[in-house]
Amino acid sequence: MRDILDVHTHTIASGHAYNTLKEMIQTAKEKGLEVYGITEHAPKMPGSCHDFYFHNLKVVKREHGDLEVLLGVELNILDENGSVDLTEPYLGQMDVAIASLHPPCICPRSREWNTECVIQAMKNPHINILGHPDDGRYPLDYEAVVQAAKEHHTLLELNNNSLNPNGFRKDPRGNDIEILRLCKKYQVPVIMGSDAHYDADILNHERILPLLKECDFPEELVVNTAKEKLYPFINKYIEA
Ligand SMILES: [Zn+2]
Ligand SMILES: [Zn+2]
Repeated sequence: MRDILDVHTHTIASGHAYNTLKEMIQTAKEKGLEVYGITEHAPKMPGSCHDFYFHNLKVVKREHGDLEVLLGVELNILDENGSVDLTEPYLGQMDVAIASLHPPCICPRSREWNTECVIQAMKNPHINILGHPDDGRYPLDYEAVVQAAKEHHTLLELNNNSLNPNGFRKDPRGNDIEILRLCKKYQVPVIMGSDAHYDADILNHERILPLLKECDFPEELVVNTAKEKLYPFINKYIEA
């Protein structure tokens, strides 16, 4: 499968990642990506950057020869209203915005409550991708989540980090298989994300690719194969 983009990665600005923006962009170039996204953790993640970091991203160059760089955010979903930790108008100015559930920022409750949190976030037109919905520490009603993704035009992420055998997310494999089954049934596109916190991990989708095969998942529903498939989902192009 052609795989030319990765929009979920972090730099030292996130507080627990290990390369600079310049190093990450250089490595993305060397790896031959066409679109590369940096999405730092939003301010409520302990050790991550302040609002001002996101407000000032306009100063950073996006075009690097054949490589297009997207600068965005990985938001923390905070409650059942789908609140997140970057305010408007700055959120809408991000090239791409992922929203995720993270233990330092929200405690899991019932399946219904967790599901309400993510669906309300997906209703926000400036949220483009639901990050690692495979984390079983937050049980979700996948039928409802996949249908909401279709309705609100949000991409569901398959996260390579989640599938790390030394990782801390719960039952990601079983959950990904269920997500893929439903996405195939309802024709909902997905995006593979490395969630790289180190440059060597950029475009590392090695744990996701065998799952796609195993589930006989249609390639046309994976946006990583062509940038034109990603564009209709992200702020940079839908806000224009
Ligand atoms: Zn992180
Ligand atoms: Zn995350």
